[in-house]
Amino acid sequence: MTVTALLGFPRIGPQRELKRALEAHWSGTLDAAGLETAAERLRSARWARQKHHGVAVVPSNDFSLYDHVLDTCCLVGAIPERFGHRGGPVDLATYFRLARGGRGNDQVAALEMTKWFDTNYHYLVPELTAEQEFTADAAKPLAEFRAALSQGIHTRPVLVGPVTFLLLAKRLDGGQTLDLLPRLLPAYVAVLKTLADAGAEWIQIDEPYLVTDLTSEAKAAYRTAYAALAAADPRLKLLVATYFGALDDNLSVVTGLPIHGLHVDAVRAPQQIAAVVAAIPRTWTFSVGVVDGRSPWRTDLDRALAIVRQVTAVHSSSLVQIAPSCSLLHVPVDLTEERQLDPTIAGWLSFAVQKLDELHVVASGVRGGDAVITDHLARSRAIRVERATSPLACSPAVRARTAAVLADDLVRRSPYTLRSDAQQQALKLPAFPTTTIGSFPQTAEVRRQRAALKAGTIDQAAYEAFLRAETERCVRFQEDIQLDVLVHGEFERNDMVEYFGEQLDGYVFTANGWVQSYGSRCVKPPIIVGDVSRPLPMTVAWTRYAQSLTTRPMKGMLTGPVTMLQWSFVRDDLPREQVCRQLALALRDEINDLEAAGIAIIQVDEPAFREGLPLRQRDWDGYLCWAVDCFRLATCGVRDSTQIHTHMCYSEFNDIIGAIADLDADVISIETARSRMELLDAFVKFSYPNGIGPGVYDIHSPAVPEVATMTSLLQLACRHLPAERVWVNPDCGLKTRGWAEVEPSLRRMVEAACTLRPTATARVD
Ligand code: GLN
Ligand code: ZN
Repeated sequence: MTVTALLGFPRIGPQRELKRALEAHWSGTLDAAGLETAAERLRSARWARQKHHGVAVVPSNDFSLYDHVLDTCCLVGAIPERFGHRGGPVDLATYFRLARGGRGNDQVAALEMTKWFDTNYHYLVPELTAEQEFTADAAKPLAEFRAALSQGIHTRPVLVGPVTFLLLAKRLDGGQTLDLLPRLLPAYVAVLKTLADAGAEWIQIDEPYLVTDLTSEAKAAYRTAYAALAAADPRLKLLVATYFGALDDNLSVVTGLPIHGLHVDAVRAPQQIAAVVAAIPRTWTFSVGVVDGRSPWRTDLDRALAIVRQVTAVHSSSLVQIAPSCSLLHVPVDLTEERQLDPTIAGWLSFAVQKLDELHVVASGVRGGDAVITDHLARSRAIRVERATSPLACSPAVRARTAAVLADDLVRRSPYTLRSDAQQQALKLPAFPTTTIGSFPQTAEVRRQRAALKAGTIDQAAYEAFLRAETERCVRFQEDIQLDVLVHGEFERNDMVEYFGEQLDGYVFTANGWVQSYGSRCVKPPIIVGDVSRPLPMTVAWTRYAQSLTTRPMKGMLTGPVTMLQWSFVRDDLPREQVCRQLALALRDEINDLEAAGIAIIQVDEPAFREGLPLRQRDWDGYLCWAVDCFRLATCGVRDSTQIHTHMCYSEFNDIIGAIADLDADVISIETARSRMELLDAFVKFSYPNGIGPGVYDIHSPAVPEVATMTSLLQLACRHLPAERVWVNPDCGLKTRGWAEVEPSLRRMVEAACTLRPTATARVD
């Protein structure tokens, strides 16, 4: 009989209970036992909920106090030496030091953090050495398996697979992590045996790397790994879970493994189903991911049923499981917590709890035919029609406008060299112009005032008066330290996507739609439900006000179209590239309005540009092509004399530098401070043609940088780049810093720029 299965469920709790418990523990108000009780309660509630909603195959060990990759480090004893761990179980204090670094006198750096595939979830990067040894500690999966069992639920424990674990890891000596596989496997084997002894029957082993481009070494590693795991214990059955894309050329690798089941993502990659079902052994359990685990949209039941039926036409239905495409970790917990959403729009959505019901409905339909789910089918179809026609989703004016975009709209009037002359005429900036990335400290007072406005204890006028005073103070400070290009400080903004989303048509916001970003940190991504347009100017009033306070150029600050897209939940009924185009047109209007209001420099931030890259390299060009077009569509409507800046806060540009240059921004500011400009490499090798502001100090650290350090970094940059194109700025926005560090840091930064000026090539005038 076709049953429902789950790969993982959100850990944070319906009211972010995990966050509260963790933060109470870290601040010392909740002891380890208290934290454990809170975690136990969450786990137990998750299992009960899944059971209640009829999930047949329930996972365990998908919970984590911080991160499942960190848990895997603990599982196999991969604890870097600096943490002073002497083997054996990793205690809670060490666990959090790994995740968050030492506190106070305990100066130990946390593991690095990076994005989990193409999601906004961050995992901790395992650090391995050439001599790495591994030891098994199955305590966590074992305890969870037993706890669920005592609750009457026989779970399928989840582990991060050994090959994926190694591919996620880095080796400090630069060696291949996969070389460590033979040493790692015994630890996995020991863990599997322990789980088998405890009565586990199936193990879900997550190998999302199988949907990426694999080297032949990696493919071979899969064969070695699963030969060992399959031999671990004859009582166990292994299901390999893949998600976020298609297996494609890795399909033959998977079908050759001595495993008992496979999960594939039929939402991201429905086209792979025919090939997969034809290729997998008939004895395997086939878990088909038909409910979207990556976005909050209600499932189109006809589509889901068609896919499952495509499978059951070939594969024994008793071996088919109906599942979400991936763990539900990436969607908010419960839609019923949203009481102020427009009911029409709420009807289009489905969060983790609702997705459990959807699985159940699909399974019923597969077992009993359409007749047993008539009402559900009717509702699903009605919603499809409603979404296609509702004015909330569809604006003929926006559609017409995006369709009418011309190639000419994507190019500036003149090439960079001519523009740069025109800009210098207008701006008369000194050599090594100084600026910042946009935000100034979001102090407790700024947040208090915003909260007070929301709570209704102050009115809009009082809030705006406060913001005006704060902005003026910021402008005066920048004048005082003689920065060349000023910013208004972004005090009126809560978040760089939310602030714009709230002013755009087509977006909705949830009250409680939290998704884990890392550890206790959650984000509440806005949802793009409909065609995006800008009813009114969004930043013009604040920017104009800030400009009115000074004769120095005031830089307008916007979030770029690609980042707006990347950090939102995007509608599933329109290609992402179309949605991005709509965002670009809305921003184009804003940029043109800023220009008309006398703003001569406009920065369009694209920190998420790189993370939009598809998992498979063959898809990169397609993405880069429309992403670049969208940035250009937003920015190319201005005069030559208007200077467009962009900002990206990461460092790996090597593989996308051509696309970055194609953005044709007049100036780009990037992160480089942390690695002594090595990161400029890509820009130098490529001969990046436009202006560039290599971040001269790391804003992620509270340390106040030395003038000499910044001067030498700039000199280093000038060895490789034409000095007249070099800008001087920190490496990111200052919103997370305090004024106490920002004041001296920026003063010194200006001093560093001034030191270089007499020797620099004079700028064209
Ligand atoms: N202008 C934004 C700021 O300074 C840029 C933020 C970012 O790069 N993520 O806060
Ligand atoms: Zn940044």
